[in-house]
Amino acid sequence: MKLLTIHGVGDVRLDDYVLPEAGPKDVVLKMKACGICGSDLSYIKWGGMPVEPGGTTALGHEGAGEVLSVGREVTGLSVGDAVIVNPMATPSNVGSGGPEGAFVDQLLIREAEKGTNLLPIPEGVPYDVAAMCEPLAVALHGVNRAQAKAGQKIVVFGCGPIGLGMVLWLADRGVEELIAVDLSDERLDRARALGAKYTINPAREDLRAKVMEYHGQGADMIGRPKADTDAWLDAAGAPQVIPEAISMSKAHARIVMTAVYHGDVAVPLGEMLTSEVEITSAIGYPTEMPDVVAAMTRLKDKIASMISHRLPFESVLDGLKIAGTPQSAKVMIQFEDS
Ligand SMILES: [Zn+2]
Repeated sequence: MKLLTIHGVGDVRLDDYVLPEAGPKDVVLKMKACGICGSDLSYIKWGGMPVEPGGTTALGHEGAGEVLSVGREVTGLSVGDAVIVNPMATPSNVGSGGPEGAFVDQLLIREAEKGTNLLPIPEGVPYDVAAMCEPLAVALHGVNRAQAKAGQKIVVFGCGPIGLGMVLWLADRGVEELIAVDLSDERLDRARALGAKYTINPAREDLRAKVMEYHGQGADMIGRPKADTDAWLDAAGAPQVIPEAISMSKAHARIVMTAVYHGDVAVPLGEMLTSEVEITSAIGYPTEMPDVVAAMTRLKDKIASMISHRLPFESVLDGLKIAGTPQSAKVMIQFEDS
């Protein structure tokens, strides 16, 4: 079988792979679907996750599959079960630096545990929708860190899969005054379909003027006019996003950074003083995966609409190229018989 592997900077290959022998605590999955993540593209750019010199990185952390074999000490899982992998809860950190990656025909899950690293897929949810669990959990964690509530006014920067997931969760939570910002009109169309009432393309619109028009005017602590926005979610990672959000923030607004930054960004601290704005970050999904799974039956059509491309596993290298284009949303890899 094959495994997608990074060998160096920009060097990613479909390697021959031999499945290690599964132990009594392990489960083997027949992979059915695995999404390509922005993190995968970053890992390739970096030449892999920190590994010993000359080491390789196995890719794929957004996987769903069918249980093929179950170790004798594993409880609650049976051959044929449909499951989602929670890679953060696997001891080998599937797809982010460990020996296993989910872009493979058969995936070894070490120390498999139902409910922690393997989550049963609800009845009627297809594998490609199930494989959206991981990015949707990242998005939900960002929304939770923003303490977003129904009735608030919120701006989401970036409408890739994570930003789109934020729009989906915010709309689901009852946030109606929702603005999505992106440089790609295709992505903004998807954001509108998922529940963003307003969209702004800063390539041809004045961001500040449009935010003020849509959300109206609030004020900072000394009464200076600001946008009446309650929270700003950064899923874009462009250097101007956080400074813009700070300078528009009213008193006690929240800014949550989910995007990956590759360099330093200068921020206008002077403008922060008068708003008591709170800036924080959100990483991964410490608690969110079970909540995402629980919502999947209800939201499966919306989730499916976030998948822009479906490719067979043998075309995964083409998929990586597509995932880097602004026209794509989630690029989903599907395996034989799925
Ligand atoms: Zn991911």
